[in-house]
Amino acid sequence: MSEVKKRCQLNDCNRAASTYCFCCNKNVCTRHFAEHIDAVKAQIDPLANEINTMVEKIQGLTIEQLSEKPLCELRQWQIDMHQLIDEIFFAKCKEIEDLARKNQEKFVEHKKQQFEIIMKIQDDVKQLVEDGDATFEQIQLLKNQLASVETNLASFRNNFLAVNARVFAQGLVTVLSNLNKPSINQNQWTNQPQLGNLISMSTNAPPS
Ligand SMILES: [Zn+2]
Ligand SMILES: [Zn+2]
Repeated sequence: MSEVKKRCQLNDCNRAASTYCFCCNKNVCTRHFAEHIDAVKAQIDPLANEINTMVEKIQGLTIEQLSEKPLCELRQWQIDMHQLIDEIFFAKCKEIEDLARKNQEKFVEHKKQQFEIIMKIQDDVKQLVEDGDATFEQIQLLKNQLASVETNLASFRNNFLAVNARVFAQGLVTVLSNLNKPSINQNQWTNQPQLGNLISMSTNAPPS
């Protein structure tokens, strides 16, 4: 028996190598090579099925499908924002109640003060009517006092409680498509495989 130069490189196989198998990049015996050829052939049927599945996928592709997920996310955002707005609303309602309660004493005090001033003005007017000799200056003075009560009331109302509520319309949600970005063109997501590289199989064993 002549000495065998190369042996099958697969595990636990000591037979003489007959060829080089490109699928595993090893010297292999005839039996193992036949097994590998069969294994490669066995991949063709599933591949054909995968291709059919892909064809159906491409044919079934619709604009609606591509819009579905963004629409779904937008609806979820709407739900979340409604919930957030409700939470803010109720929290701020409570703040208004709390602040009003906190300033209740100041409110009572203010009301009392303004009431006293207006009673004093009323008394003065009554006195002028009784005396029957009111001057222009006296009338003007009472008018000014009355006007200042009006101003006090308005000022207290403004200082007592105010809500600064803003509506942010812009920037909360943005909708965009990468297809419309000027720097990107269609070829960037059309990845065409090089067909020549897909099939490389040989029965001629090159020297290893
Ligand atoms: Zn192989
Ligand atoms: Zn072998």
